[in-house]
Amino acid sequence: MKFKIQLTTQDETGEATHELVCLERTTEGLEVIGISLAEAKTLLANLQKQVVEQQIATFLSNRQQCPHCTQAFRHKGQHPVVFRTLFGNLKILSPRWFQCNCQPHKTRTFSPLVDLFTDHCSPERLYLETKWSSLVSFDLAAQLFEDVLPIETHIQATSVRNHLQRVAKRVEAELGGEQFSFIDGCPNEWASLPRPPMPITVGIDGGYVRHWNNKKTNFEVIVGKSIPEEGASKCFGLVQSYDDKPKRRLFEVLKSQGMQLNQQIVFLSDGGDTVRKLQLYLNPEAEHLLDWFHVTMRLTVLNQTAKGLPITFEDDDKKHELREPILKAIESIKWYLWHGNTYEALQHLESLEMDLDAAVDGKNKDSVTRKLLRSAEEFHTYIANNQAFITNYGERYRQGERISTGFVESTVNYVVAKRFTKRQQMQWSPKGAHLLLQMRTRVLNDELEQTFREWYPDFRTESDEKLKKAA
Ligand SMILES: [Zn+2]
Repeated sequence: MKFKIQLTTQDETGEATHELVCLERTTEGLEVIGISLAEAKTLLANLQKQVVEQQIATFLSNRQQCPHCTQAFRHKGQHPVVFRTLFGNLKILSPRWFQCNCQPHKTRTFSPLVDLFTDHCSPERLYLETKWSSLVSFDLAAQLFEDVLPIETHIQATSVRNHLQRVAKRVEAELGGEQFSFIDGCPNEWASLPRPPMPITVGIDGGYVRHWNNKKTNFEVIVGKSIPEEGASKCFGLVQSYDDKPKRRLFEVLKSQGMQLNQQIVFLSDGGDTVRKLQLYLNPEAEHLLDWFHVTMRLTVLNQTAKGLPITFEDDDKKHELREPILKAIESIKWYLWHGNTYEALQHLESLEMDLDAAVDGKNKDSVTRKLLRSAEEFHTYIANNQAFITNYGERYRQGERISTGFVESTVNYVVAKRFTKRQQMQWSPKGAHLLLQMRTRVLNDELEQTFREWYPDFRTESDEKLKKAA
């Protein structure tokens, strides 16, 4: 049998029918039931071509006369342009017309389609390319589009990347300017604000991405997650060495979650200096704490290493217990830190280091002991540097206050590791990583569609939603 698919167009000039595709079919074999992907692509591509051509014809015919004297514009010629859509790259003949002599003009000719084609890529294609390449690699995203969409030419990963960067740069240009402080007004004014909503918790963390120019070096990315008591949490990210408005960026995230200047904000971080600078001067009611997640992760690593220690070590031909007392010491250090008792925690750390030191000095040449000693010293420095930001976590926890933003997985892992993979071929420039981070966080926060709607008011409207549900 045959299936003829036609398009009927209706407008003020009447009705016209165009053949789109003709499918020939048997009914023998599972693989011939229904339409194939290739047929669907041909159908969509032909349909798109027809629809766009007719839209352009109408657009031009609405403008073919001079609005002042109603005389028809004289044609000078035309040149081809490519309009990239999800359903094909369309070659469009863009006409050039002479300006009408009834008014003075700066140029002799003009291209009427320039007003319509403000971009040579359809917003929906830009949107999907940006969305998918935020989630998977540029390469995979390009392959995905080639597989499922009727785009006849090969899609280059670099072209997907360029499109993403173009969207990201537009978003970046719309971000307001940087300020030293975002705290506005004075305590009296804050007091007169409406009763503040529940606190917002913001977790900020640093991670590293491999530099493509110098494969041995990494550069720092800062990511975070902002969690209000009510409503959805949002993540954000930036490349410290590239971003010139990090505070504005974080401020806008908090503002979009309804932050008031009399509202309490709890910043949880891993204690790095660069990370902490970012949180200053954003809110007068801010509290800065070391994220329990990072403390407990480090302790878990110490504990794992300690499990590999020899059971005993020899010193002056005397046997001493090693593994058990060290494991117990780590347990008590954790307990003191949980209760915010840094003084005791540091005391216990010191005696743990002395025990390990004795074991290393003795006849024990064990590498695990050395490794644990080094890690314990690093942890010591970490706790000492961050003393001021360690709180009574147990107490907070009992009162139902947040002490960590990442019990399940760290924000770095969620935002960075899954897209900026450590595979050899994945190397980044600070700029490329920063722009991708902007798009990735927007996609993870489910905000990219809204961004496009602000640029293109009829982008993916409610009627599109109704169509999807009806299908
Ligand atoms: Zn005129």
